Amino acid sequence: MIKLALFAGDGIGSEVAGEAVNVLKFLFDSNSVRYEIEEDLVGGASYDEYKKPITEKALKLAKDADAVIFGAVGGPKWESLPIELRPEKALLTLRYDLELYANLRPARIYDELIDASPLKKEVVQGTDMMIVRELTGGIYFGQPRGVFDLDDGQKKGVNTLVYTTKEIERIAKIAFEIARKRRKKVLSVDKANVLECTELWRNVVAGVAKDYKDVELTNMYVDNCSMQLIRQPKSFDVIVTTNMFGDILSDESSMVAGSIGMLPSASLNGKKGMYEPIHGSAPDIAGLNKANPLAAILSVAMMLRYSFDMDNLAEKIENAVERVIKNGYRTADIYSNAAGTKLTGTKEMGMAVIEELKK
Ligand code: NAD
Repeated sequence: MIKLALFAGDGIGSEVAGEAVNVLKFLFDSNSVRYEIEEDLVGGASYDEYKKPITEKALKLAKDADAVIFGAVGGPKWESLPIELRPEKALLTLRYDLELYANLRPARIYDELIDASPLKKEVVQGTDMMIVRELTGGIYFGQPRGVFDLDDGQKKGVNTLVYTTKEIERIAKIAFEIARKRRKKVLSVDKANVLECTELWRNVVAGVAKDYKDVELTNMYVDNCSMQLIRQPKSFDVIVTTNMFGDILSDESSMVAGSIGMLPSASLNGKKGMYEPIHGSAPDIAGLNKANPLAAILSVAMMLRYSFDMDNLAEKIENAVERVIKNGYRTADIYSNAAGTKLTGTKEMGMAVIEELKK
């Protein structure tokens, strides 16, 4: 029995997660997979009800589940709250408490959506990469940190880049395992020429590579990588990197896919994972049936692949999404008025994916 926790959240979060769950239920029911989905409030919705962005009960639900499906949180209504009570705190708490140390962000371009990318067609066509970002360590968490007063009246701002062998090994293993399911290439990105901590990173990744002789490992400095992502995005397969480098490079790589509404993500601790679109709650289009649900639907496909080893079902969803795009369905964010395309709402897009799954 598969146990899932569902946190749809705020704004378009509930709209897109709703479509993702409809697709998942259809797939599970038609393939006789036994499952249960339990839902709770997070983010602003939880604050409105319980005066906190996530409750102990919701956290327990997440901890007890095999995987978590997350929509998005946030919105102007809650922006003036103290930081500890803001909706986004729910997300950080879940990542931290579940120790979701590996953030996977695939970025690929569908041929039919090439015009939605700001890059030239010949540069972007064929791009299909996976960024594996370390999510619970590095400079975002290292101590000491803070802004300190100096004797001469100046201030000193400090953040510390820290990685242990164990932290690097476990994220590297994830990258190599994923590469085995793809084109068997791992690129480790660091700044080993300047930062000792990432020199350790490079050496530990090389050590892990010895257990994956079938996967090719190369290294690149982060400044060069940021250039190559624009110059030749299709040359990348799996990129593994630190928390901050991954944060920056994954946003850069998302541009090859054209719209934020197309990009899924997974945050993993071994098989346990939380799956969510990379976008936020989009208050500007919330409740209008305009949001693109494909990122959320593709996140569920990632869940099937990475938490449950159901690669065949994951492929069914990914192929159905591809056919829906080929058939011209377009939510507003990817609509270009091209011949053969039809402007589609959130619900209709979800239904179109299910119709393809029926075929
Ligand atoms: P956003 O991602 O919500 O929206 C940015 C732009 O992209 C908007 O114009 C929006 O309409 C569009 N967009 C986003 N998702 C879309 C989709 N699926 N289909 C079509 N268009 C889409 O980012 P923002 O506006 O900076 O943030 C809004 C709120 O969301 C804030 O409160 C922010 O803190 C929160 N946020 C939450 C998450 C999360 O829950 N993981 C991530 C980012 C931002």
